[in-house]
Formats: sequence, C-alpha cells, structure tokens
Amino acid sequence: MLEEVLKQIEQRRHFVLTSHARPDGDAIGSALACGQILRSLGKKAEVVMHDPVPRIYQRLPFADKVLHSQRVKGDYEAAIILECDSIQRTRLDGLEERFLINIDHHLTGRPFAHVNWIDPDAVATGEMVYRLARQAGVKVTPEIATCVYTALLTDTGSFMFQGTNERTFALARELVLAGADPAQCARNIYFAHSTAKMRLLGAALTNLHRDEELAWISVTQQQMEQCEAKEEDCEGLVNYALAIQDVEVAAFFRELPDGRYRVSLRSKGELNVADVAESFGGGGHECASGCSLEGPLSVAVKRVITQLRRGSSSDKGSSVQ
Ligand code: 5GP
Repeated sequence: MLEEVLKQIEQRRHFVLTSHARPDGDAIGSALACGQILRSLGKKAEVVMHDPVPRIYQRLPFADKVLHSQRVKGDYEAAIILECDSIQRTRLDGLEERFLINIDHHLTGRPFAHVNWIDPDAVATGEMVYRLARQAGVKVTPEIATCVYTALLTDTGSFMFQGTNERTFALARELVLAGADPAQCARNIYFAHSTAKMRLLGAALTNLHRDEELAWISVTQQQMEQCEAKEEDCEGLVNYALAIQDVEVAAFFRELPDGRYRVSLRSKGELNVADVAESFGGGGHECASGCSLEGPLSVAVKRVITQLRRGSSSDKGSSVQ
C-alpha cells in the first residue's frame, strides 16, 4: 500500500493533511512530518485540524502553520488523513467529496478512504510517514526527524508501552542521527506542563479508586473549571493510575460539558483495552484506547469496569488454553 500511496501522491499537486480531533503527539507529529515530505516532493500541503495544536507540541517545526478550523475549504486534490479511523473523528466538514488517503497504525483502523494504508505493526503513524519519506527518496531533515521522533516518543509512552521493540529503537537512532534532539523533545513534552494541569492531576487523584488489578480516576466539569484546565490538560493523567504497582489496567473518566464521559484506558499489556473501547464505540491500541459513554459517572464507571473485568477473565482464559 505504501507504493499505492506514493503513486497517488505523484499524480496530484495540492494536499490537505489532517488527523483526529483532540490531536496527540502522533497526530500532530505525523501530520507535520508528512506535510514537509510533500513539500520536499514539490507539492503544496497544508495541515488543518479541528482543534488547536496542544501547548506541548507548539514548538514543533511548522506547528505555527497549522490551520485550526471546523471545515476544510480549498481546491485540494486529495486529503491525507493520518492516525485516524474515520472522517467523523477528524470532526472536520468538507472532506466527504474529496479523494482520501488514510495512513494509520491503529489495530482498530478502518478502510474508510480511497487508499488505505493501515499497519498495526507500526508503533506510531509517524513510523509509517518516515517509511514514506525513505521510499520517496526524500532527505529526512532535522525538522522532519523532530516531528517523527515526537510521534514515536509519545505513542510508545516514552518507549514503555508493549510493542516497543528493537525496530523502535533502531528508528529512534536513525531520527537522532538525522537531527532530532531527544532531550529537547522530552523537555517540550514532559517538563512543560501547565500549572492548571498539575492542579487537575491533584483533583483527579483525590478521586482515585482501586479494585485489585484495576484503578481509575475521574474529574468533573466543575473540577476542570476550578483548576482552569483545558481539554489538553487531561492528556496523560491516566498514566498516574497505571503507575501503581500491580495495577494492570487504568481508566480516566472526564465529564464533558454535555454530561457524557470521555474515557481513556491504559494497560500494562495483559489485557487488550482496544477491545473494551471498541465495545463502547471507541477504539485505539491494545495498551492505549479511548471511548465516550453516557453519564452519570457511577453508571459509566460500572459499565467500563464490568467490561474490563470480563476482558481480563477472558484474556486469562485464553492464555491458559
Ligand atoms: P486517549 O486516551 O489518549 O484519548 O486515546 C488513546 C488512543 O485511543 C489513541 O490512539 C486514540 O487515537 C484512541 N482513541 C481514543 N478515543 C477514541 C475513540 O473514541 N475512537 C477511536 N477509534 N479511537 C480512540
């Protein structure tokens, strides 16, 4: 499919690139890297996102050129949708009638586009974008390397998630040789939290619950407001619950303004949380997934925890067989 993607790119001149709403490091990093690769190939390329670039990714090369909009307008000949399993998850209007290229590494990825390159073996969509650059003969500049490295660093949970392997480190090495600065990338992401985020973490931890190998935390809309926290300040909070010894799976519940709950699920590897998220209409990876549920909180928690318990007993069952 990589050849097919390149063939379609060769035949066109003007591209729009996007990813899912509430973009994470892989969404932003892979889109910014892909935009630079296309421009190196002599194409015109713009990155359009439904939500603004989160603060911790604003120092990435060309992040200041990302257009923040509800709608894709313009005479683009194709849209490249990265790290996203549907048009709906982009939350952008104006994509439906366009020629669509889908580049994704999610286990739950779907072939919704005209050309679909889905590789769940890639640890980040950024890895696929890097392969695209190599296949196209594009020089990987320090700027491209920095964007791909950020995608790799964040989507592997700082090289800690299940699935991180020797290929991941080989790629990281190539990116560092190409000019990515690991200390600077880490500093921008992990040592750059807002004060509001740390306050929100405090609030979330006051709602910490533990039940054997499961742990969960939550924040209400009121706590979000009291902490003056933004949506992006919720990213990564779930990892503090997962950090507890003997906890296998952690969940983070966030109340949305409409009373629904966004749920982030993380696993240390024994349980596939993509299956659980999918059973509620969401998706993701074996170790990191998400979904949305109706409130109230007690009901949302009960449904998710019940499903996690079912998943963990069936996973144990299958490993015994
Ligand atoms: P997070 O918990 O950080 O929002 O998401 C973790 C992973 O699950 C990411 O790879 C993200 O793309 C995926 N994910 C989160 N929410 C959803 C959802 O509602 N639908 C799908 N398909 N994937 C999701």
